Amino acid sequence: MKLFTVGPVACRPEVLAEMGRQMFSHRSEEYRELHRQTVERLQKFLETKNQVFLFPSSGSGVMEGTVRNCVDKKMLCCINGEFGKRYAEVGVSNGREVERLETELGSATTPEQLEEKLSQCPDVEAVTITYNETSTGVINPLPELAKVVKEQGKLLFVDAVSAMGGVEIKVDEWGIDVCFASSQKCFGVPPGLAVGSVSEEALEKSEKAKNKGWYFDFKLYEEYQEDWGTHMTPPVPQIAALNKELEIIEKEGGKAKRLELYQRRSRMIKEGVEALGLSLFPKTDCQSPTVSCVRAPKSMSGLEVYKRMRQKGFELAKGYGSLKDSTFRIGNMGYIPMEDIEEMLQALSEVIKQQF
Ligand SMILES: *Cc1c(COP(=O)(O)O)cnc(C)c1O
Repeated sequence: MKLFTVGPVACRPEVLAEMGRQMFSHRSEEYRELHRQTVERLQKFLETKNQVFLFPSSGSGVMEGTVRNCVDKKMLCCINGEFGKRYAEVGVSNGREVERLETELGSATTPEQLEEKLSQCPDVEAVTITYNETSTGVINPLPELAKVVKEQGKLLFVDAVSAMGGVEIKVDEWGIDVCFASSQKCFGVPPGLAVGSVSEEALEKSEKAKNKGWYFDFKLYEEYQEDWGTHMTPPVPQIAALNKELEIIEKEGGKAKRLELYQRRSRMIKEGVEALGLSLFPKTDCQSPTVSCVRAPKSMSGLEVYKRMRQKGFELAKGYGSLKDSTFRIGNMGYIPMEDIEEMLQALSEVIKQQF
C-alpha cells in the first residue's frame, strides 16, 4: 500500500532500520548523546534557544501538558476544524474555562478576528492556534496571529502537529511559547513520540501551577534535560529514528530544501487533482502544503473515493468530522517518492472516471 495519509505516514527505510537496533538504557551515555543530538537538531530546525522536550506520548499529550502547566483558569482556542476543537475539549476536560474563536471551515483565522475576540476576553491567560488544520487542509497565518497574541501579552501555544517538519516555523522570531508536534506526521517517523519547545515564560508559569500532575510536568522535563535525560523511560527507538531523520534532512540541504520538497509535492497533487476536474475544499489563500482536502466528485462520496483508491493500492485519508462524506484528503507527509505521486493521480483519475 502506498501511503498518502496524514499520520502515521510512510517512513524512509533508513529511519525504520534505526528503530531495529539493539536497545540501550535510557540512563546510559549512549542515550544521553542521542538525546542531546536530537534536542540540538530540533532547536536548530525550529530556530529557537528555548528548551525542546521529548515527550513519551503523541501530540495530544502535549496539548494536555500546556493546559495543566500553563493555564490556571482561562484560555482562548482558535478553531477552524476538528483539531482546534480538540484543544478546546482538552481545556474543558481539565476544568479550565475556554473561550472559542470559531471561524468558517475552509478558511483561515484572521489577525483581525483574533484581535477582536481578545478584546472581548482580556482575562484569558493563553491562546491556542492550530497552525495547520489537518481536518480541512487549511494553514493559518501563524506569524501574523502570533503577533496579535504577543502584543496582548498572552502565552501562545501552537499545535504544529501536521506542520513541523514540512512548513516554516521560527519559534523565537514569532514568539511561540509552546510549539509541539508528533513524530508520525511531517517528520516521517513512527508514532509514539511528541516534541515541543517550551519558553522561559511558560516554564515560570509551570513552576507555580497547582495540580499539574507528574508525567507532563514541564519543570521535571527541564530538570532532567540538564543531564540529557527524562524523568521516565522515553521511547528510545522513536527518538533514534527522529534523530536519523533530522540528520538526513541536514545532509539533504537543510530546512529550506525540506520545505521546498513539501511545497513541490503539494503543488503537484493540487494541480493534478484540479486537472481531473476536482476542486479543493479550502479557499485559495490558505491551502496547506502538507495535506490536500479535496471535494468529492458529484456522483461519489469521499468515502467511496477512499475505498476505491485502496483497492488500487493507495491509502489516502478519509474526510474528517463533518466533512466525512463531502471530502477526502491526500496527505504528502513522510516518505513519498515523486513517481508515486504521478501513479496516485493516475489511479485517482481512473477511480473518478468509473462514475462518469
Ligand atoms: C494528528 C493531529 C493531532 C493529534 O495528534 P496525535 O499525535 O494523534 O495526538 C493534533 N493536531 C493536529 C493538527 C493533527 O494533525
